[in-house]
Amino acid sequence: MTTFQSLELNGAVLRGVERAGYSEPTPIQAKLIPQVMAGRDCIGLSQTGSGKTGAFILPILHKIAEEEQSAGPGHCCGLVVAPTRELAMQIVDNARALSKFSMAKIALLIGGTGYGPQINAMKRGADLVIATPGRLIDHLDSGYLSLHRTHVIVLDEADQMMDMGFLPSMRKVMQAMPEKRQTLLLTATMPKPIRKLASDFLRKPVEIETSPQSKPVERIEQHVFTIKSRDRRRALLALVEQYGINRGIVFTRTKRTADSLEKLLRQAGIKALALHGDKSKGERNRALTAFKKAEVPLLVATDIAARGIDVDSVGHVINYEMPHVAESYVHRVGRTARAGKEGVALSLCAPAEQPLLKDIQRLTGLKLPMQQLRLDGAELPDKDASPVAVDAEGAGRQEKRLNRKRGKAGAPAQGAADRPRDGVRPPKKSAWNPIRARVEVPDSADLTAPDLSKPLKKKKKSGTRKPKVGNHRKGQPRSTGLSEAKAGRTPGRKPPRNGSSGNPSGGKMRHEARAKRDSQGRAKGPGEAAA
Ligand code: AMP
Repeated sequence: MTTFQSLELNGAVLRGVERAGYSEPTPIQAKLIPQVMAGRDCIGLSQTGSGKTGAFILPILHKIAEEEQSAGPGHCCGLVVAPTRELAMQIVDNARALSKFSMAKIALLIGGTGYGPQINAMKRGADLVIATPGRLIDHLDSGYLSLHRTHVIVLDEADQMMDMGFLPSMRKVMQAMPEKRQTLLLTATMPKPIRKLASDFLRKPVEIETSPQSKPVERIEQHVFTIKSRDRRRALLALVEQYGINRGIVFTRTKRTADSLEKLLRQAGIKALALHGDKSKGERNRALTAFKKAEVPLLVATDIAARGIDVDSVGHVINYEMPHVAESYVHRVGRTARAGKEGVALSLCAPAEQPLLKDIQRLTGLKLPMQQLRLDGAELPDKDASPVAVDAEGAGRQEKRLNRKRGKAGAPAQGAADRPRDGVRPPKKSAWNPIRARVEVPDSADLTAPDLSKPLKKKKKSGTRKPKVGNHRKGQPRSTGLSEAKAGRTPGRKPPRNGSSGNPSGGKMRHEARAKRDSQGRAKGPGEAAA
């Protein structure tokens, strides 16, 4: 039998494993760790909840612990790319716990948080960087991070990154890596574009599959209930009641449905919180914490929002609607039965959704017979019924009130149109944002930073635009926007930093000029203070 000791991991890493309470390696860990330690490129086909994070993090931590030199400022030894912020945060938590004694320097680069601390971390250099694609590319483009000394890269949940439109970003990141490197690709499913990516970037990879591809873990009890579309809301209440669900995730296809179900459940007296990309980072963290602490029994989540949910004892998953993409079914039901526990997946399927069910059966190789659901006694609550309160939300409201008092949120609430879909608030006008992130989020990308690999749409040139009064510095001519238009740039938009602008040092030069200006007494905006 394989034990962690027999894998010959570095002693300090082994102590981290013991502290994490892992008594023996999971099957994917037992197979993948020796291959990664031998320096091979690997494809890990593994289900969510199988312990795949440990399978790639442990050998990387081992190498970092054995190495004498760090990568140095602006560099990292190892890089993990994950599709969502939640998943990236979960990987960081895991890596920090496992490296408690080996003390690797770990940095997290994700969207939705300030650039300042991330830039500072990059300036110091990191042993291991864990990032979402959009923010990673921001840092690469700005020159704050270089991958020239990175010798191992992990593309985690590569199939999900592809679903979210990050395939071009993955290719861009791979192209920024040195020729001599080790590449690990982890995926739950192996669609053609991922196989192509693997054949383009991996060298003679070992393929490791611990359970049949796309097959949800055997321990999950799966039921599909035939319903009429109009009965769907009642059917949800019936399922919660009949299965006595006290730790479950309800999946919806849209954020709007997630919000409306949160309201329905709470009007029916069941504490629930919605989790999707229109929620702020704070709201999402509070919802996850409340769920982890069992303060709310139900989360209502969209697919992408749920990707990073790693709660060991989720007993039930409900597919309120059948997912449009069969792979999503595998990911959804994989939220339960984690770390060796039991789980139940319940799906509501209207007649129009039967082709989707067929796709799922084809993909998983499972026969999922249709069952009838008893709806008697499941009545919808009164439309005006007041929803049951949830503490986590109260805390959020209180925070907002406090912010308003401090004058931070005094402005009217952001409307749906100007609120970015990934929950990233636009930088305040007065704040200096050192990287000028371009926020263009792919439709499906609820939670992570945008794909920046595509060119921006050019704004209309407006050579006649009047400069704003007071928007120039003393002793310098006012900008009319004309010179910028002539130079082929969009007035007001700064050129990208090195690379695409044709001015490789542009970003740093601007940074230095700004620093000089600051030292000459210009008042700092809040963003600058942070950076
Ligand atoms: P993952 O598939 O990496 O998301 O891991 C799923 C869960 O299994 C996480 O909560 C891990 O902490 C846990 N886990 C990972 N490896 C082991 C192990 N060897 N023994 C027990 N639990 C583990």
